[in-house]
Amino acid sequence: MILVVLENQRGIIHDFSLQAIVAGQQFANEYNCPLNILCLGENADNLKNQASKYECDSIIIAEHNLIKEYTSDGFSKALSDVIQDKKPQFTIMGHSYMARDFLPRVSVKQDIPFISDLTSVNFQNEKIVFSKQVFNAKFLTNIELDPNVKSAILSFQSSAFSKDKLIFGTPKNIEKFNLSLDKEDIRIVSQEPFKETSSDVDLSSSEFIVTVGRGIESEDNLPIMEKFVDAIGADLGSSRPVVDMGILPKSRLVGSSGHTVAPNLYLAVGLSGAIQHVVAMKGSEKIMAINTDRDAPIFEVADYAVIGDLFDIIPELTRKISED
Ligand SMILES: Cc1cc2nc3c(=O)[nH]c(=O)nc-3n(C[C@H](O)[C@H](O)[C@H](O)COP(=O)(O)OP(=O)(O)OC[C@H]3O[C@@H](n4cnc5c(N)ncnc54)[C@H](O)[C@@H]3O)c2cc1C
Repeated sequence: MILVVLENQRGIIHDFSLQAIVAGQQFANEYNCPLNILCLGENADNLKNQASKYECDSIIIAEHNLIKEYTSDGFSKALSDVIQDKKPQFTIMGHSYMARDFLPRVSVKQDIPFISDLTSVNFQNEKIVFSKQVFNAKFLTNIELDPNVKSAILSFQSSAFSKDKLIFGTPKNIEKFNLSLDKEDIRIVSQEPFKETSSDVDLSSSEFIVTVGRGIESEDNLPIMEKFVDAIGADLGSSRPVVDMGILPKSRLVGSSGHTVAPNLYLAVGLSGAIQHVVAMKGSEKIMAINTDRDAPIFEVADYAVIGDLFDIIPELTRKISED
C-alpha cells in the first residue's frame, strides 16, 4: 500500500501535496497496490472533500483535539500510528517546511528510512532508484533502496511531479482513523499557524513569478518592476543582493537560502543566474530571462532569452500591456 500525506495550506490542499498525489498514483500503478490518502489535523474533513476527486483507493481521516494545531510532536505521533497500523510500503509527502520538520521524527519512531528532497524516481524492474541534488545542487546522486527495506518515507522536491498529471476519479472508501493521543505526547507549544512565508505572497505556490536581480540597482527603481508585475498579474521575487540591499523583504527571496519555486512561467530580470539562485527555480515550466550580458549563466537554463536593458524593456512592456 502507498500512503500519501496531505498538507493543509490555509484550508486548501498544499500544491506540494497535489504533486505528492501524482507520485502516489504512479507508485501505486508501478507496484500494482492500493493508494491511500491521509488527511490529518484541523482541516482533515475539508481536505478529504477536496481530495475526493482524485483517483485513489481510500481516504483516511485522522482528527483529534490535540492535533488541531500543527506540532511536530502531535503530527509525528499521529502519522507514526497510521504507519504502524497500515504498514505502507511508501509514505509520500512534498518536501515542504512541515515535512522537513516532522517526518524525521516519524522515521525515528518507526525505525524506517526517510529519503528526503528527491527530484525523481526511476523504477527499474525489481529495483527502485531515487535521485537527489547534493553539494548545493552541484551534483546529482542516485540512491538505490535496499530490497530488504519494507517501508520508507519519501519527500519530493517541488515540481518532481507535475500536478497536471493528476488522475481524477472517486475514492472507493473513506475511513476514520482513531488516534490515541495523550497530552503528554505533545511537549511543544504552537505559537502561530505554520506558514511558508510571513508575507501575503507564497512564492512556492505562485504560477507566474517575475524575479528581479541586482540589475535593478536601487530602491528608487523598484516601482518600474512593481508596475510591471501589477500589469501582467505576476508575483514579484528577488535575488539575494536585492534582499541584502533592503530593496525587497526576505519573503521574496528565491534561492537556496529562500524559496524553491516552480511556476508555469519564471521571468528573471537583471539577474545573473548564480547556482544558489538557479537551484531553486530551474524546475519552472518555462523560463525567460532579460539580461544585458549575452553570456549570463541564466541563459543556460532559460527557454527564452532577451538580450537587452531592463530599463528600456520593462517600462515599454508595461506600457504596451496596460494599453491592451
Ligand atoms: C551560501 C549562499 C547562499 C546564497 N543564497 C542565495 C539565494 O538564495 N538566492 C540568490 O539569488 N542568491 C543567493 N546567493 C548569492 C549568489 O551567489 C549570487 O551572488 C546572487 O544570486 C547574484 O544575484 P544577482 O544575479 O541579482 O546579481 P549579479 O550576479 O550581480 O547579476 C546581476 C545581473 O544583472 C545584469 N544586469 C545589470 N544591469 C542590467 C540591466 N540594466 N538590464 C538587464 N540586465 C542587467 C548583469 O548582466 C548581471 O548578469 C547565495 C550565496 C551564498 C554564498
